[in-house]
Amino acid sequence: MNVAADSCFIGQGSEMVDRFSSASTWERADARWPNHEQRTLICTRVSDETHDVRTFVFSTADGQLFSFEPGQFMTVSAQIDGKEISRCYTISSPPTRPYALSITVKRTPGGVMSNWLHENMKAGVELKAFGPSGVFTPSSGPALKSLYLSAGSGVTPLMSMTRAALDLGLNRDIVFVHSARTPEDIIFRKELAALCGVSGKLRVIHICEAPGNKADWSGPVGRLDLELLMEHVPDFRDREVFICGPAGYMDASRKMLVDSGHDASRYHQESFNFAETVECAEQPACAPAGQAGYTVRLARSGREFTMDASQTVLAAARKAGVPLPSSCSQGICGTCKTRVLEGSVEMKHNGGIRPREIEKGMRLMCCSRPTSDLVLDL
Ligand SMILES: Cc1cc2nc3c(=O)[nH]c(=O)nc-3n(C[C@H](O)[C@H](O)[C@H](O)COP(=O)(O)OP(=O)(O)OC[C@H]3O[C@@H](n4cnc5c(N)ncnc54)[C@H](O)[C@@H]3O)c2cc1C
Repeated sequence: MNVAADSCFIGQGSEMVDRFSSASTWERADARWPNHEQRTLICTRVSDETHDVRTFVFSTADGQLFSFEPGQFMTVSAQIDGKEISRCYTISSPPTRPYALSITVKRTPGGVMSNWLHENMKAGVELKAFGPSGVFTPSSGPALKSLYLSAGSGVTPLMSMTRAALDLGLNRDIVFVHSARTPEDIIFRKELAALCGVSGKLRVIHICEAPGNKADWSGPVGRLDLELLMEHVPDFRDREVFICGPAGYMDASRKMLVDSGHDASRYHQESFNFAETVECAEQPACAPAGQAGYTVRLARSGREFTMDASQTVLAAARKAGVPLPSSCSQGICGTCKTRVLEGSVEMKHNGGIRPREIEKGMRLMCCSRPTSDLVLDL
């Protein structure tokens, strides 16, 4: 990192913000990987971050580059005990390093994919993945001053953003407050400390729920609260907030910010837990079951099925034996984003699609119900 070059960006204020916060910065024609396209990744390296968190680094067999926005995730799939299992993982590496892509995975007790990855993923092992998705990116909230809040494995999208900002030499004003159970659970601790040494405008604060076995922990102990925030980030109300962590942590943090006068329109969150997200695919149908059937035609494959408005298009397609790319089924991950060429749907999503994509006719099939016959770009 060239600190002299770094500081010459400071005066260019909004121009630099736009570069970091513009989706087009990260788009590379030679590295396009649509989110409905599944590719084979090859693991090149595995490293331990903590006792239960590992980073897996991948490249492609033909050395293809990766383009994505910092903060996006991909949906990986593997055959586990004879079943195809898919899960979303944030790309923890920054898009500024397009030859290698990493995910950082915390073992979930009893969890199928996280444990499989920890036990089986080694250099040379292949993994299938759909292209990058998600709208939890700097382009969702351009700003000169940011506050990144994370807990546990929720650190990953914010790490990609931080690495990208520093790789580009953007001396952005970022305060990164990460909560962990104990000092031993802090992910990317050393690297974040090193990055603070590179940019004087990056500040990292770790909060531990308990001091754990490290008798020398001198940082804050407890949970993130207003007193701690006021002490470490007194100007938090002026900052664009990006938050990722367990649902309880995000709910409490959001309430704390709103109650203390932070502008809710400058708050952006990513949930890793589909079960805790509100309405979408599981909400009551918007039309009674058995209502007149609609025909859904897939323009590219020529396949066709019928359905009624009590089902989502994704559920009906699955029932009809027509495989559509999907992952979360909750309107979050964006894997099932599809252009509706003819007809209309009613969609209730949870942030997995951008307004400009909706304007272009894209819809999420997992949370869209038909209001007419449909022709889809599939
Ligand atoms: C957008 C997004 C990005 C994400 N990014 C990351 C990331 O960067 N890093 C990361 O570590 N995670 C991330 N996640 C979470 C990740 O997708 C997985 O949810 C997580 O790894 C757990 O998956 P698993 O297959 O191991 O667990 P699962 O098998 O899905 O199990 C989850 C929990 O449910 C319990 N369970 C499973 N089956 C049953 C059952 N039949 N009855 C009762 N309980 C059951 C398990 O014991 C476990 O506690 C992300 C999620 C999303 C949506």
